[in-house]
Amino acid sequence: MIPDMDLKIHSRDIDTLIGRMKEYGSEADFSAVRRAYDLAARLHEGQKRLSGEPYITHPLEVALNLTMLHMDSVTLCAALLHDAVGKTEADLNLIEKELGAEAACLVDGVTKISVMKNKSRTVAQAETLRKMLIATVKDLRVIIIKLADKQHNMRTIMFHREEDQKTIAGETLEIYAPIAKRLGMSKISSELEDLSFQVLYKEEYGLIKNELAEREGERQKYIENVSRLLNERLAGAGLHLEITGRAKNYFSIFRKMKMQNKSFDEIYDLRGIRVITEEVKDCYAVLGLVHTMWTPIAGRFKDYIAVPKSNMYQSLHTTVIGPEGHHLEVQIRTREMHETAQVGIAAHWLYKDNMAAKGESYKNIAVLNDINRLFNESGSSLQFLKDLKMNLYEDEIFVFTPKGKIVRLARDSTPVDFAFAIHSEVGMKAAGAKVNGKIVPLKTKLKSGDIVEILTSKTAHPSAGWLKFVRSSGARYKIRSWIKKNEQPAEDTDSKKEEKKEAPEAEVIVPQEEQIKLSRLSENKKSMVSIDGTSNILIKLAQCCQPIPGDDVVGFITRGRGISIHKRSCTSLRPMLREKERFVSIVWESSPKNFYPVRLNVEAKDRPNLLKDVADEIALCRANVIKVEAALKTEDRALLKFILEVSGSEHMKEIIGRLKRLKSIIDVYKSEGKVVLSK
Ligand code: MN
Repeated sequence: MIPDMDLKIHSRDIDTLIGRMKEYGSEADFSAVRRAYDLAARLHEGQKRLSGEPYITHPLEVALNLTMLHMDSVTLCAALLHDAVGKTEADLNLIEKELGAEAACLVDGVTKISVMKNKSRTVAQAETLRKMLIATVKDLRVIIIKLADKQHNMRTIMFHREEDQKTIAGETLEIYAPIAKRLGMSKISSELEDLSFQVLYKEEYGLIKNELAEREGERQKYIENVSRLLNERLAGAGLHLEITGRAKNYFSIFRKMKMQNKSFDEIYDLRGIRVITEEVKDCYAVLGLVHTMWTPIAGRFKDYIAVPKSNMYQSLHTTVIGPEGHHLEVQIRTREMHETAQVGIAAHWLYKDNMAAKGESYKNIAVLNDINRLFNESGSSLQFLKDLKMNLYEDEIFVFTPKGKIVRLARDSTPVDFAFAIHSEVGMKAAGAKVNGKIVPLKTKLKSGDIVEILTSKTAHPSAGWLKFVRSSGARYKIRSWIKKNEQPAEDTDSKKEEKKEAPEAEVIVPQEEQIKLSRLSENKKSMVSIDGTSNILIKLAQCCQPIPGDDVVGFITRGRGISIHKRSCTSLRPMLREKERFVSIVWESSPKNFYPVRLNVEAKDRPNLLKDVADEIALCRANVIKVEAALKTEDRALLKFILEVSGSEHMKEIIGRLKRLKSIIDVYKSEGKVVLSK
């Protein structure tokens, strides 16, 4: 999403700016903007940017960025003078005299955000952020100018020394990009992300860029095909709409790969299209058609039109199984919703007829209330930064207790997770829940900002059914141990059955003649193996299920990336099941020389020397312990979590069998958790 750099800055001047303004606002105060430009040019006279260009090119570019958001003339005046106070001898009085109090106030806001020096990085960041948000609540235009400023600074970051580049990019990625995102300004936020990403992770950036370029043709074709099919159906229904593929944000691909521990292919396999309609009712008509053409995936439909996100985002989302079995994400929205999705909060200016919009009218925007509430509830700047970040990362939500305490949970958490997060006793006695004042089922998925109240009862107790929907491992563990302790055989078997149901076996049937014998997989899990002695193919053990020799596995032929080996029960195979021809069967051959990391949990009554005895036994089995975590789960019960290296599932069984015979051991089991080994 990085735009082609337009470095012909010298060719732009105040007339370029005025020209851009005329495209959207005929009533603007052009003479004020000219006055601001002349004043800025005079003040910055003789100053140079690191690029060697006259300094005035920077405020001019910032103002030009703001015309993309159709900002009013006062904002553009302030943008032209945003570096004047501090970098020149000008003060606010001068600006107020020349351009009025409103512009001076905006300049003041922007200036205050930037003066954070001589503090530790985290503290400085937290305070910058806090200042920025105070300014935002007072007048949104301050933050919008600041973001446009960052945008130009990031576009010209290559003129800094390399280590300065890293500092600036880090701050941009941690503060400015998330703020832009929070305000719904997705176009700016993804540009800031990608520009920072390029500086901070040069190598990864290059890799993703290459991968994308390599697959672009195939992807384009797929999207074109889908668009054609959809267009035919729409035309049949009398609708003629714009269908586009979606812009790619390199950094979001990178983040997904990191956070979900997935390969490029797994992330990239998701294809997305967007349908832009004229009217809201058409959105729902298109949705209906899409669902008749391709099978929708349960739980993936979201109606952000009826319930907009707090940053004003509106759209319908659905995921269907598209042609060739690919998951296809479809976003459907009107043109106006689409533009709002790009510029977020700045859409207030986009759709304003008169250009004299005032900060006052933006005070009721949900996101501002959100920020305000966070702001009032967080004691220190650091806590505030933490709370805010919580709200920014997609994999986390934060919810409130009725008294306003913030509780942080993983996405898709339920009131049960919330109850255990408050206190295990609350979890143990949870009988029901209220979300935002309404009674809801305990399995309800919580959203950021929900106010959650747990109704407890003395006679209530955990139920095996909860295991079906709880997200946090802590809650899951406590529920399990309660069930074990209060063993009611009937319920226990139920819970086992239910757990089984959660992960049904993927039905992968593979023609026997295409067997691949896996003899050696080298340590980095990649290897060249021979199929029928004719060709060499790259083999990778899938990171999602981390199979080890002896596991029941199947191979999936990826596009251009060799074969990835998954457990037959791996849920990530499900979307690929339609493409039977891309599966091959896999036979493990004994390879005593290789070792694979696995997680092994040992539960035991605590006693002296417990850890030592268990570790000794593991050593006797010739397995390597990479990591161990020991914790007391109850007063007398210990949970030892090992990461071991084993040669395969037989080896694993041997270890489990021997550990189970040790004194005071309650249970030994392989944990399905992924093993991530940091280097
Ligand atoms: Mn600046």
